[in-house]
Amino acid sequence: MFLSVDLVPVPAFQTGTYIRRRVHAFSTDIRMTFPFARQFVVLLSPVLAAATACTHPQGVAPNPVATETPAQPARPLNSTEQAIVTAVSSKSGEGLVLLERLVNVNSGTMNFAGVREVGRLLRAEFDALGFETRWVDGAAFGRAGHLIAERTGTGPRILLIGHLDTVFEPSSSFQRFERLSDTTARGPGIIDMKGGNVIMLHALKALGSAGVLGQMSITAVFTGDEEDSGDPLALARAELIAAASRSQFAIGFEDGSGDPRTAVVSRRGSGSWTLKSTGTPAHSSQIFRADIGAGAIFETARVLHQFREQLSGEQFLTFNPGFALGGTDIRMDSTEPGGTAHGKSNIVAKGTHVTGDIRTISPQQLDSVKAKMRAIVARPLPQTRSEITFDDGYPPLAPTEGNRRLLAMYDAASRELGFGSVVAVNPMRAGAADVSFTAAHISSALDGIGLSGWDGHTDKETADLRKFVPQTARAALLLYRLGKGGTASGAR
Ligand SMILES: [Zn+2]
Repeated sequence: MFLSVDLVPVPAFQTGTYIRRRVHAFSTDIRMTFPFARQFVVLLSPVLAAATACTHPQGVAPNPVATETPAQPARPLNSTEQAIVTAVSSKSGEGLVLLERLVNVNSGTMNFAGVREVGRLLRAEFDALGFETRWVDGAAFGRAGHLIAERTGTGPRILLIGHLDTVFEPSSSFQRFERLSDTTARGPGIIDMKGGNVIMLHALKALGSAGVLGQMSITAVFTGDEEDSGDPLALARAELIAAASRSQFAIGFEDGSGDPRTAVVSRRGSGSWTLKSTGTPAHSSQIFRADIGAGAIFETARVLHQFREQLSGEQFLTFNPGFALGGTDIRMDSTEPGGTAHGKSNIVAKGTHVTGDIRTISPQQLDSVKAKMRAIVARPLPQTRSEITFDDGYPPLAPTEGNRRLLAMYDAASRELGFGSVVAVNPMRAGAADVSFTAAHISSALDGIGLSGWDGHTDKETADLRKFVPQTARAALLLYRLGKGGTASGAR
């Protein structure tokens, strides 16, 4: 480690009010040494920029943030790349202010006004960067809608993916950005994925400052319903899929595994299945008789048991029956995922209804597992019948060569910045996400490069603010190199 920064902890919110540090006091709290690699001195400037920013649109000064300390870089950056990194650093205070502002707008998926407001704030930023922006209304699929921002240059078209919504609806008690320390902040959606949206935007701003954005061809798609997608799904993802079909690379800014030394080159898909069994109702004393058989509940138990016995050891596959009803009379609710059942212990069960999920690493695995499940279902116990139906939901993002090449470029950027190597995260740790919808159209995709932190989807969702500059810088370098045609891989 060639550089060290000590920051005095700064109280962020005290009864909702920012306590602003004095610039001179703050500056004297920075102690640094930089024996080599002049380019990395700029990585400190976010600290200074944040400390010296006196006014900005909200009239609230951002708190200083200690950034990660780079190790010895693998090789020096060229002058353009250095200009990009300088710009990332100098604008980071502004980025964190925007992050706070976005987090403080509730955008639970079903809070359409809030989702639109987050879209409006981001749209203004992309307008200012010279993108053509449009709002896609979501009425047709029962959601708020999506923001699309596009610009065309001479480079290969790169699709950037974010989402505007969070899992925290207005009814949640978790609503506000809260600075916990000089290096951490908590808030709904702060890492999933308002932090990633801001990293994307600020990487683009840095490319603009360095004068290289003009030649790039970029489509940014921010869906408004990633956490609870609209219905029908094909309509809800039509814009994203259309953007993928005209792009060569896809990069998602989700928060990934929580460890910035990893990124995502494959995600398992997430679908659902419904198993229904029927039996022959009769007095329980006659069960197993040739003409009565085993009843619906034993038949369902057989199917589920064989699913587990025959399929639970398959790599990258999971499936979970999460709901089961059985008896003489079962009724499913039409609006809620639930229902009611009536039955008696002395009557052979007439029917069952089970729903579950299924996650696979590739379309091939999904097809093969479906065939095995259907084969199990097709061998019912006497006097029973079962049927299974599947709803594919989110497709898998299979680990392709192109995805690995993108990761290699991102890894190189990270190492060259002195932030260490980045490896593929185990797909078992990556949930389904929007990037997967590009898989049928784009053979080079990378995800999980948004702001790191922990406890996403809980009321302790916390960002590691030290990662904001390094993660933005390496994303910006990746985009710059891709924009120049930095790897040989295209659409398929
Ligand atoms: Zn997300």
